[in-house]
Amino acid sequence: MSEVLERIWQHQQISRVELVEHTGLTSGTITNLTHELIELKLIREFEAVSGNVGRRRVMLGFDPSLYRIIGLDIGRATLEIVVVDLNGKIIKTIERDMSDRKGPDDYFEVIDPLMNELKREIETAGHSILGLGAGVPGPMDYSAGSLLDPPNFPGWKGFPLQRTLEEKFGLVTLIEDDARTSAMAERWYGLGRSVQDLVFITMGIGIGGGVVHGGKIVRGTNGLCGQVGHMTILLDGKICDCGNRGCWETVGSIPGILSRWSGGNTMEQLKEAIRQGDAEALECMENTLGYLETALINVYNMYDPELVVLGGRLYPYLADYLLPVQNHLRSRLYAFAKDRLRIEPSTFGTSQSAVGAAALLFGFLLSEPVRLLALNDGA
Ligand SMILES: [Zn+2]
Repeated sequence: MSEVLERIWQHQQISRVELVEHTGLTSGTITNLTHELIELKLIREFEAVSGNVGRRRVMLGFDPSLYRIIGLDIGRATLEIVVVDLNGKIIKTIERDMSDRKGPDDYFEVIDPLMNELKREIETAGHSILGLGAGVPGPMDYSAGSLLDPPNFPGWKGFPLQRTLEEKFGLVTLIEDDARTSAMAERWYGLGRSVQDLVFITMGIGIGGGVVHGGKIVRGTNGLCGQVGHMTILLDGKICDCGNRGCWETVGSIPGILSRWSGGNTMEQLKEAIRQGDAEALECMENTLGYLETALINVYNMYDPELVVLGGRLYPYLADYLLPVQNHLRSRLYAFAKDRLRIEPSTFGTSQSAVGAAALLFGFLLSEPVRLLALNDGA
């Protein structure tokens, strides 16, 4: 069943005959499995015109009518909730500024009424919620479903987030580091449909990374895999929150960039100063791009991804420089790999983590549909 769902996801629309060809299962088995999936309202049939003769064929695709998934992003300055259907289409987005709120109690004062209202709204409309995904600043304790001690996120150390969300809202809940949720947004709903190996780099107040290899998130022994913001860029640089010295984050994140410029306190001000040709601002950006290039060449040589996706609140300020950065990278990369260099902006902009949190549940559905539906029946 999982394999059939995965093929349908990959192709978005596929016929039963093609499913037989792609999976190697017998047509009888495909008929039975697809019948069961249609009964479960996970997939549906529709007619599509195919080929140059314009013949109408019965195709299969995900059924967007019944199920909804909720994605929640708990950020340092913002809270975002999205509702998506089984095609990854965003049905609703809610955003709140959280910059003056500290710690879980403050956050749940906002989350509780929003979530309860949203659940009521979805259920009243006759939809069924498959589950809730949440993205949070890492690092995390995966066995306990809690946050470890995220930098610049006071009050959350050791907070049992997964259990709390499950108890409060009665939904199957998965939580993940926000850089990894962002990577999963691309993996399932964005550029990653045909890509098995990708690295998502999110740049904002901090710099995080999510590594997808063979279609799966790679966490590493201590959950630190893909912490690209903490690669050493300057041997004698500043001490970082992680304990290391000269991390990329200390010079390449928004606070890191602004700490190297005396002309203002915001990226907007820096952008304006660059536009006016201010020498110090130009030098600051030149160094920023140099650090970015160094970080990217390290990412390429370490992970050898098919695709690198850049996102986060800093990205819009770097977007104009992406082409020259890629050209420099080609001159620094192994010659045989340089033509395959592929760097793209995030598909979902600042909603990347919330969409990816929902995508965690979609990934669960594709790998273990029967178990997820059984958990829902028991919830
Ligand atoms: Zn660090």
